[in-house]
Amino acid sequence: MNTSTSSSSVTPAAQALPRIAVLATGGTIAGSAADVTSTSGYQAGVVGVERLLEAVPALSGVARIQPEQIASGDSKDMALALWTTLAQRVNTLLASDEIDGIVITHGTDTLEETAYLLHLTVKGTKPVVLTAAMRPASALSADGPLNLLNAVTVAASAAAHGQGVLVAFNNRIHCARDVVKTSTYAVDAFQSVEVGALGWVQDGRVEFQRKVVRPHTVDTEFVIGSQWPNVEIVTSYAGASRIGVDALVAAGVRGIVVAGTGNGSIHASLQQALADAVKQGVVVVRSSRVGSGHVMRNGAAPDDALGFITAGALNPYKARVLLMLALAAGGTGAVALQKIFDTY
Ligand code: ASP
Repeated sequence: MNTSTSSSSVTPAAQALPRIAVLATGGTIAGSAADVTSTSGYQAGVVGVERLLEAVPALSGVARIQPEQIASGDSKDMALALWTTLAQRVNTLLASDEIDGIVITHGTDTLEETAYLLHLTVKGTKPVVLTAAMRPASALSADGPLNLLNAVTVAASAAAHGQGVLVAFNNRIHCARDVVKTSTYAVDAFQSVEVGALGWVQDGRVEFQRKVVRPHTVDTEFVIGSQWPNVEIVTSYAGASRIGVDALVAAGVRGIVVAGTGNGSIHASLQQALADAVKQGVVVVRSSRVGSGHVMRNGAAPDDALGFITAGALNPYKARVLLMLALAAGGTGAVALQKIFDTY
């Protein structure tokens, strides 16, 4: 992990600016292609944090930046060990008197998972803001520089304190719990489906329009560890079979999240396999592949009878994050685990 500080030649005015740590992890925001017109054939995570910052001179008027290169990867390959490293580093910085807020640059592919993990495990009320880009740093009209400037602006603002982990993307500010990637290519790639963004950031101005109501950061029972209970995801679809679930149970998984059809409904063959899995001690959570709405308990499946848990509005990927944390914290039993899903 490389750290450096840009505080050596600051003016008195600049010394009054908030101190923001920028933790770079890779992604398209740090991507580079051979051609400026290429926005799909590029290598993610190859541009270092110092160069990302150099592309945004206006940052010097917003904050004193402390850059760190935490990783240089493509977030499609996000590893659980890197989640542990990142969350621990965020916690260390949040506890430091030298830092007022944190920005994390990330790939868009798994950003919604990392953001929710941090929302549940980092401990502090200072702003933690993730950002990313859909176009590589080398592209015409790259979106990364403005997203980075806006993310630092949010992290430096008093209004962002105590709002949990945030995602600043394309001028909007999202709650980590709600935000999902909804486009494979558009620069407006993130939405908080159904509930909407928390607020917006534009031209140096930050405005929140609603508050986060569910517990996060300092108010959760979760702490970051290095043990990650094995939780996998299966999907229901026409003609689904029990083959995948039986293989997962044989492999010793602790939990299975189902991306069900509609209101978390599950093909009969798959549902029987999942009911059998519960009898073997595997925790089964029903979510939906639909992309908006929530999954009602005892709606599309007899959850009480089969011992299933429902994910509410969490998509399968976020439900998996919560189930891993709940199991790592020693959570057991359908009633207690359902309470966790109803709470967070
Ligand atoms: N594959 C890239 C990543 O997630 C995509 C992106 O950042 O937009 O790292």
